Amino acid sequence: MSFFGKVKEGAAKAAEKAKETVELTRLSAQISSKKKEIDKLNQSIGETVFQAYLSEDFLSSEPSVIALCRQITDVNQEITALEQKIKELKNEKDCVCGASLPVDTNFCPTCGYKFAPRVHVEEAPLERLGSVKDEDQEK
Ligand SMILES: [Zn+2]
Repeated sequence: MSFFGKVKEGAAKAAEKAKETVELTRLSAQISSKKKEIDKLNQSIGETVFQAYLSEDFLSSEPSVIALCRQITDVNQEITALEQKIKELKNEKDCVCGASLPVDTNFCPTCGYKFAPRVHVEEAPLERLGSVKDEDQEK
């Protein structure tokens, strides 16, 4: 490759890297705001239960508490999807033992887990993130 060809390639790689960094920052910010959402939901559960205690009727609070718990479960799933997206950007994958490994690793150095040969995964997580993007646009 010519000198200018190499320079061009280097610039393209740097641009790609910068784009990746922006995307990682964006995803991390989304995760933090989702975690705050969970804090608020937990607080609502506490308030709902306390109100039920004051009115001496715990049973009446059950539907609200269950609805809030379901919301937490949903937000947790969104966080997992965002964390997964970050791993993909960083070219990492999770081992069964919880270790983060480079995506092309065949054996886990921590637990010795053997990975199945890699299959190309079509952008499935992107679809799950659709709702997250919509929320951003509302702001
Ligand atoms: Zn492992």
